[in-house]
Amino acid sequence: MAMAAIRRFADWVLKVETSGSMPFYEMECMSCDASSVVSEEPGGPQNWALKHAGQTGHGLFRAMHTCFFRAVPKAVKQ
Ligand SMILES: [Zn+2]
Repeated sequence: MAMAAIRRFADWVLKVETSGSMPFYEMECMSCDASSVVSEEPGGPQNWALKHAGQTGHGLFRAMHTCFFRAVPKAVKQ
């Protein structure tokens, strides 16, 4: 007699995970290889981009914002 597998599926939600690392920001020039330092605040990389634009005339940048998420089972309301 074959045993039937019983599988239970729960709803999952994503929560921002900050225990290992806070979110971080970086700006990268699209005209050359220059990039800002990585920072936990967006202001530093944005200021770097403005300074870089003023020094080089390069005006297109890519902003990178990295944060981590953890998937956890959704709490059941009773
Ligand atoms: Zn540049």
